[in-house]
Amino acid sequence: MYSKIAEYTNKYQVTLVAVSKTQPLPTIMVLYDQGQRIFGENRVQEMSEKYEAMPKDIQWHLIGHLQKNKVKYIASYVSMIHSVDSFELLEVIDQQAQKNNRIIPVLLQFHIAREETKFGLNIKEAQSLMETIKHQPLNHIKICGVMGMASFTDDKEKVRKEFKTLKSYFDLLKSEYFADDTEFKEISMGMSSDYEIAIAEGSTMVRVGSALFG
Ligand SMILES: *Cc1c(COP(=O)(O)O)cnc(C)c1O
Repeated sequence: MYSKIAEYTNKYQVTLVAVSKTQPLPTIMVLYDQGQRIFGENRVQEMSEKYEAMPKDIQWHLIGHLQKNKVKYIASYVSMIHSVDSFELLEVIDQQAQKNNRIIPVLLQFHIAREETKFGLNIKEAQSLMETIKHQPLNHIKICGVMGMASFTDDKEKVRKEFKTLKSYFDLLKSEYFADDTEFKEISMGMSSDYEIAIAEGSTMVRVGSALFG
């Protein structure tokens, strides 16, 4: 399955984050040996253990909910944090990045699913977060875009609508706060069941797990 999906994301110039949570190291190495270098994990401890054990040219993306007191464990090496949903979390990431003398790329996570309670901001909260940053700049984080998870449903049109919503949030933030910022460009949306819809709706980064590792 890997080569088929990698070919597809390549064709549309979309970044493939291989979600390796719960997968053992040898299984991850199979993808690594086929050229995959970006892996996504949703737990801090699991990601750190894998980071220690795996080749150092892997870029590790944290895609799951992140607690403030755990940022310190990943700040030295994490390539991107997809799950920023508060200014307070952003401040902690900034502090830990400064300690490590680096800038950490992050995405703002939005709540786009209609149903279950999932983590994430709404657009008003994101705008107020951006206003706070205007007055209190954070120099060791880089906001590179947005992330969201669609509803867990077979209703493709519902999923498509939610992706359209996230794309519209990206466009709004881009025009209000990042018009001249070429690094604000990522829309992280799409998983195993819906990455094709997500790409059609403007995704730049898909997070695919089960379909790759099956
Ligand atoms: C697990 C997970 C994925 C991948 O899900 P699959 O359905 O296995 O592709 C993507 N994003 C997040 C945030 C996840 O936790």
